[in-house]
Amino acid sequence: MIRRKSREEIKLMRHAGHIVALVHQKMKEVLEPGISTKELDDIAYHVIKENRAIPTFLGYNGFPASICTSINEQVVHGIPNENIKVKEGDIIAIDVGATYHGLVGDSAWSYAVGKIDEEKQRLMKATEEALYAGIDKMRIDNVLDDISGAVEDVAKNYNFGIVRQYGGHGVGHNMHEEPFLFNYRVGDKTIIKQGYAIAIEPMLNLGGDEVVVADDEWTVSTVDGKPSAHFEHTVIATEDGPLITTKLME
Ligand code: MG
Ligand code: MG
Repeated sequence: MIRRKSREEIKLMRHAGHIVALVHQKMKEVLEPGISTKELDDIAYHVIKENRAIPTFLGYNGFPASICTSINEQVVHGIPNENIKVKEGDIIAIDVGATYHGLVGDSAWSYAVGKIDEEKQRLMKATEEALYAGIDKMRIDNVLDDISGAVEDVAKNYNFGIVRQYGGHGVGHNMHEEPFLFNYRVGDKTIIKQGYAIAIEPMLNLGGDEVVVADDEWTVSTVDGKPSAHFEHTVIATEDGPLITTKLME
């Protein structure tokens, strides 16, 4: 069952999302060649704690960190490590979750480390564009397939691969709630109602669709080794249109 969020729940989700956005702001500030993904994780942890929230990912199904850090061909769920340092020309997807008074904000962003090549620039641009195309369909009385289709169309326009095994999801009191949201059309006619909250998160690949999970049981990478990008916002369907919760509050 998909639960509609009340006015009070939406307020708390805005707050959780604001904290997630603060973490992203900080990540952007400190990200430079030579920083380790563990250092990024420590910084993220402190921003979340300073704002009296809980790092949603830490301990989730045993995940050992507060953020996921996925570099280049890594798609999602990369584990921060002191021995993994980003370098000039990398792209890194940083996924952040914060729980505030029991409600969750979930947002991922891909960042360039220094100067990146044109292909990676195009991939990041396309994936962000796919995210906002999807968000624009998060409207009352649309169906879930409208969001999926909008994401798929952007990916196809650029001729990029779409990760099939992972997708968006309902979010609220838990990070993963119903419904699951595909990043390509599956014919899901579930009607979007006022108060539905969904994390929309396209993952696009420069090459093919196929991905594989590493021996650490978390890190997902492309099979062909080509780069992947990931952008995600938590979005609520409201009478005034799509409300992105994971951005800074004015
Ligand atoms: Mg996420
Ligand atoms: Mg998510």
